[in-house]
Amino acid sequence: MSLSNILFDYKHIWHPYSSMTKPLPCYSIISAKGVYLTLENGKKLIDGMSSWWSAIHGYNHPLLNRALKKQIKNMSHIMFGGITHSPAISLCQKLIKLTPSKLDCIFLSDSGSISIEVAMKMIIQYWNSLGQNRKKFLTIFNGYHGDTFGAMSISDPNNSMHKIYNNVLPKNFFAESPQSSFHSSWNENDLISFKKLIEKNELKIAGVILEPIVQGVGGMRFYHPIYLQKIKKLCDNHNIPLIFDEIATGFGRTGKFFAFEHANVVPDILCLGKAMTGGTMTLAATLTSRKIANQISNSKVGCFMHGPTYMGNPLACAVANANIKILQNNEWKKQVLKIEKQLYKNLFPLRKHFRVINIRVLGAIGVVECTQLINIACMQKFFVDNGVWIRPFKQLIYIVPPYIISSRALKKITDVITEALNYKILFI
Ligand SMILES: *Cc1c(COP(=O)(O)O)cnc(C)c1O
Repeated sequence: MSLSNILFDYKHIWHPYSSMTKPLPCYSIISAKGVYLTLENGKKLIDGMSSWWSAIHGYNHPLLNRALKKQIKNMSHIMFGGITHSPAISLCQKLIKLTPSKLDCIFLSDSGSISIEVAMKMIIQYWNSLGQNRKKFLTIFNGYHGDTFGAMSISDPNNSMHKIYNNVLPKNFFAESPQSSFHSSWNENDLISFKKLIEKNELKIAGVILEPIVQGVGGMRFYHPIYLQKIKKLCDNHNIPLIFDEIATGFGRTGKFFAFEHANVVPDILCLGKAMTGGTMTLAATLTSRKIANQISNSKVGCFMHGPTYMGNPLACAVANANIKILQNNEWKKQVLKIEKQLYKNLFPLRKHFRVINIRVLGAIGVVECTQLINIACMQKFFVDNGVWIRPFKQLIYIVPPYIISSRALKKITDVITEALNYKILFI
């Protein structure tokens, strides 16, 4: 890329969570195929991120590409108001089949954050139609649900910098996040904080929202399945709907098709996104029970008040259909299990490293929690120089590689992470 283009980017273009005056360096990628990202100089990087949990089958997948090309011949987009089309119908049929039978009605939207907004609006409308003015949500610390206002208001107050938006964000209830980790034994005390909040505020709480099992970028924590089961019981006892955010974990990442299957708990609302199109197009979905959908629909207002311009985008639906078709050959189970085994083998020895607090592995997710904050720009450069693409944050080096990654490529990633821990300069 010409120097002037690099400077233009530097000067004029926001990147995620970045500064306009002191932006972190960006790397120019010219193509991506399988698990490889190609830099301009022709150098290939092994991808450890799946473009933020989404490109589960790798890049430039022939079946996903074919689905897009086929759909583009018919129509790329058409409004969803008063119009329907088979890519959307076929996708919703698949989603209904893949999810518990209780989840019966689907709202398609354009991104994970919006699917969360939709879930929150649905719940508020649900209570409104029952004549109750319930507006608060109950969640746990260390969560992440997106960057729009509603989603921010239920994300960890420190991570999402609630303070900046102090008087703008709705105030919600935050319980302590569970300390019993996925693989440790269950400690009943984990429930105390949540139980207190739900009992004290029952009539104010519209819904409970959680990322099941895996708290993603709010801390990359894996908590105990019994926690989810107990939360579900508390919600049922207090008659409060339960929303699961499976935007990161859905479509096999944790070793189950949905993370809630680890606990056998079915939510009243389910949000999906990220991997739904295999990392090709932006698309998300909010699935609800018929009970909630009917209550909203039979109210005075009579309809659900949301309708994005690109709702049900046919290209996105077509590629999501192809993505799910690939998943349905069930290769993902073997792939994710194989990655999990290898991550245990290659990352667990790092537990003894003096720069490591904790190593966590679940499905195709590997987390190295370091004792120090990471110098992102330096470590990113170290990774790129060594031929891998990993984007660490805070004190966390985590990988969520495409399911198709070979043992050799994955070994290279864990080797480079191991090496990185030895350099003081890569930490703050
Ligand atoms: C990424 C993510 C979101 C937000 O999705 P966007 O598509 O980035 O808006 C919400 N919840 C979780 C758990 C996520 O990982």
